[in-house]
Amino acid sequence: MAAPSFDKRIHRVGRDVLFCGLGTLVSGLALAEFDFFERIYNFTREHDAYQLDEIICVFMILPVFTVLLAYQRILDLNEEVRARQSAERANLELARTDPLTGLPNRRQLDDVLQRFADAKGADTTSLAVMHVDLDRFKQVNDTLGHQAGDHILRHIATLLTRMVDPADLVARISGDEFVVLHSQGQRRDQIEALALRVIDSLKKPIQYGGHACYVGASVGIAIADCPISSGSPDPQRLITDADIAVYRAKECGGGRCEIYTPDLRVAFEARKALSDEILAGIDRQEFFPYYQMQFDAETHEVVGLEALARWQHPKRGILMPDTFLDTAAFLNAVLDIDRIVLARVVEDIAQWRYHGLDVGTVSVNVSAQRLKEPEFLETLKNLDVPRGTLSFELSEAIYFDTCEEEVREMVRHIRALGFGIEIDDFGTGHASIVSVTELRPNRLKVDRSLIAPLIDSAGQRDLIKVIVDMGRSLGIGVTAEGIETMEHAAIARDLGCDVLQGFAFAVPLPKDEVAARLTNIRVQNIA
Ligand code: C2E
Ligand code: MG
Ligand code: MG
Repeated sequence: MAAPSFDKRIHRVGRDVLFCGLGTLVSGLALAEFDFFERIYNFTREHDAYQLDEIICVFMILPVFTVLLAYQRILDLNEEVRARQSAERANLELARTDPLTGLPNRRQLDDVLQRFADAKGADTTSLAVMHVDLDRFKQVNDTLGHQAGDHILRHIATLLTRMVDPADLVARISGDEFVVLHSQGQRRDQIEALALRVIDSLKKPIQYGGHACYVGASVGIAIADCPISSGSPDPQRLITDADIAVYRAKECGGGRCEIYTPDLRVAFEARKALSDEILAGIDRQEFFPYYQMQFDAETHEVVGLEALARWQHPKRGILMPDTFLDTAAFLNAVLDIDRIVLARVVEDIAQWRYHGLDVGTVSVNVSAQRLKEPEFLETLKNLDVPRGTLSFELSEAIYFDTCEEEVREMVRHIRALGFGIEIDDFGTGHASIVSVTELRPNRLKVDRSLIAPLIDSAGQRDLIKVIVDMGRSLGIGVTAEGIETMEHAAIARDLGCDVLQGFAFAVPLPKDEVAARLTNIRVQNIA
């Protein structure tokens, strides 16, 4: 039979104690009653079956029995209370421990920091916080599953615990974030050296089920520099400072360590404000395209346009991509901007066509994030534009050589749907000849950093010639970007680039000005 629940047992003990109390009270009252014995005498005479001594005995034993019973119940109750207290303690301990790694969790870390804060006049100059944030944990989790992720987290917990001083506290504060709290007053260079050792160890692969998982880590450090009695720093604030430092380390590409300074907080807050504005701007659809015309290298006729994102900021006016793209990429929001820009491009193409303007091929920049979205393919399938009028520029920053199969697959689908593929910023990044032959783009856009030195550098001219020859042999066109003078235009043409784009011909313009320029050109041609 199942044991009654704790509450029921408490209830019973209470009931028993109540009954015992009542019993004692009744017997006490009865005994205290003045004519008690006379009544008993009368009672026994009326009920011959009872003996007086038996009745007295019952009344004497009753209080003793009730006291014993109450005592037993009180002992039971005590035991129950103790059991409950120890269960509560165990629960509390569990609530302060990360069940996966056995490390203290955020709550325990907060308690420890609070104890430092509460200690009157405590010298917190000895405190330092090291925030370790894994760089590619999500990818491992997503590709190899949660068991692999769990294995990695346990491995890192063990590694960190082994690497730090035994007096340090290592806590796992969330998914892939760990904090090491030093309270031993190590010097700044010692803490930094430890952080670099941690980063180095985590650069090595972690084996799981025959896979080598490269997670990598960024580290942010915050070191207290004045005693708490002087008003700052608040030990809790060290956590947010270290968080800001790790954010900075990630912003700079990860796999590195940053030490908190007040300047970082100022930059962080500005970044945070910009992030909020970008997200609001996406909501309000404040992003839209400017267009830069592209010209045939021989005839200088307009053969196409490149759509370039602009942000109609409510206070700061029209902003260029360098003011928002990095932050948007960090927020994983470039795909939203790409989505809005593409929708506007499609509308603009429809309007130009409606007015009988031939703008050639419009190329739209597309981010790696957007390429990985299955919804992107659906959007493309439903696009209402004639095939051949739209082409997508993939930045070389997409790492074509190492990119996931899903990106290659997407490129194949885009081509199969009849849209063009162009490799942007060619020559600056990671597209090898192998990836070019595999992806088979329609066009390579040679980055302006390769075009600028054309006038003075024979070596640079040779390089462009090689790119053009490779393109020709594969049936791929070559656009020269960043043509700033007509001299550049002539050299690029002579080297075999078939399309030219740059300020020498046209700067990026709003759609109405593009229409006006194209209409003008048409009128001049007719005349
Ligand atoms: P990009 O795709 O290589 O675009 C060419 C950039 O070079 C444009 O800068 C353009 O204004 C600039 N440019 C063109 N000709 C010249 C020239 O002769 N001299 C100089 N100095 N610059 C020239 P913009 O508009 O600031 O765009 C910068 C980058 O932002 C683009 O480089 C592209 O990578 C990215 N971007 C722009 N729009 C989008 C977008 O809608 N989505 C995504 N994902 N990225 C975009
Ligand atoms: Mg581009
Ligand atoms: Mg480019």
